[in-house]
Amino acid sequence: MTATHSTRMLILGSGPAGLSAAIYGARAGMAPIVVQGIQPGGQLTTTTDVENYPGFREVIQGPWLMEEMQAQAEHVGAQMMWDTIVEVDLSQRPFRLVGDGGHVYLGDTLVIATGAQAKWLGLDSEQKLRGQGVSACATCDGFFFRGKKVAVIGGGNTAVEEALYLTNHSHDVTLIHRRDTLRAEKILQERLFKHHGVKVLWNTEVEEFVGGEGNEGLVALNLKDTRTGESSRLDVHGGFVAIGHHPATELFQGHLELDADHYIEVEPGTTRTSVPGVFACGDVMDKIYRQAITAAGTGCMAALDAERYLAEADFEAEEAVAAE
Ligand code: FAD
Ligand code: NAP
Repeated sequence: MTATHSTRMLILGSGPAGLSAAIYGARAGMAPIVVQGIQPGGQLTTTTDVENYPGFREVIQGPWLMEEMQAQAEHVGAQMMWDTIVEVDLSQRPFRLVGDGGHVYLGDTLVIATGAQAKWLGLDSEQKLRGQGVSACATCDGFFFRGKKVAVIGGGNTAVEEALYLTNHSHDVTLIHRRDTLRAEKILQERLFKHHGVKVLWNTEVEEFVGGEGNEGLVALNLKDTRTGESSRLDVHGGFVAIGHHPATELFQGHLELDADHYIEVEPGTTRTSVPGVFACGDVMDKIYRQAITAAGTGCMAALDAERYLAEADFEAEEAVAAE
C-alpha cells in the first residue's frame, strides 16, 4: 500500500546539507520530512578520517559524524524516510514528489540537498585503491600526504586549485593533464606556472594506479603519453582525481534552472532557486567549496529561507482572508 506524507518542509537528501536543514527546520516547528535516498548520511559515509569538521579535537570517522547528525535531527523532531525520489512536480504547491515504491510526498516547501558525486577515470586499480592513496578531494585528504609526493589528474579549475592547495603539504606535486592546454581560468594557470612546487605533465593519461606491498596503498602511477603512446612511471603516494563532478540533478531538469554544469542555480547569497518555495543547498548547488561544513552551512540557510518564505506566504494568506 502506498501512503501520502505531507509536511511544511520536505527535504531531499540526508548528507550534511539535508540534515542541517532538518535540524533548523525542526527547531523552527516545521516538522520536516527527510527523504534519505540511496546513500543515507551522504558522501561522508564513504570515508574514514575527518579532521576538518569543527568541534572535534581528535580525528573523527565520517560515518559516525553522519549518524550523530541524523540522531540530532531526529531528536529535535525531523522524520526520516528510507526512500528515493523518482518523480517531481514543482508546478503547483504543495510540491508533489513520488518515491520509487510509489509513496507520495507533499511539501509546502522543498529543500533539495541531493549532493554531487566525483567523476572517476573508471580504472579497476582506481576503484581498488580509493581511500588508500587515491582520492577525489585534496582539501579533505591532502593533509594525510604531508611531505609525500602527490599527483593531481585533470586540467580544469578544480585540478589547478587542488594542485596549488597540495603545495601546502607536499614539495613535490605533479599535475597530469591529457591535453597540452588547461581548461582552468588564466589567473589560476598563471599562479600554477609560477609555482616552483608544481610540475605539469602534458598529453599524459593515467593507465594504472599501482599499489605497494600489503597495506602500503598507492606507490606509483603508470602513465601513457597520448601523442607517442610511450609508457612511464611516476612514484607518488597520493593520486587526486579532479576531472569534475556530477551533481544529482537529473530529476530537476526542465523543472528548475540549472547551470551549464547541471548544478542548481540559486539567487546569489541565498538558497532560493528559480521556483519560489524550492531551495537548494550543499554540493548540488556548490561547485567551488564542496565541503561538509559548507554543505551544513547552506543547509542551515535553506531552512531559514524556507521558514521566511512560509511566514510571508502565511501572512499574505491571512491578509487575503481579512480583505474578503
Ligand atoms: P551528500 O553528502 O552528497 O548527500 C547527498 C544526499 O542526497 C544523500 O543522502 C543521497 O542519498 C541523497 N539523494 C540523492 N538523490 C536522491 C533522491 N533522488 N532522493 C532522495 N535522496 C537523494 N568534506 C569535508 O568537509 N571533510 C572531509 O574530510 C571530507 N572527506 C570526503 C571524503 C570522501 C571520500 C568524499 C566522497 C567526500 C568528502 N568530503 C569531505 C566532501 C563532503 O562529503 C561533501 O562536501 C558533503 O557530503 C556534501 O554534502 P551534501 O549534503 O551536499 O551531499
Ligand atoms: P571541468 O572544468 O569539467 O574540468 C575537468 C577536467 O578534467 C578537464 O581538464 C578535462 O580534460 C579533464 N578530464 C575530464 N575527464 C577526463 C578523463 N576521463 N581523463 C582525464 N582527464 C579528464 O571540471 P572542474 O575543474 O571540476 O570544474 C567544474 C566547474 O566548476 C567549472 O565550471 C569550473 O569553472 C567550476 N569551478 C570553479 C572554481 C572557482 O571558481 N574557483 C573552482 C572549481 C570549479 P579536457 O580539458 O581535456 O576536457
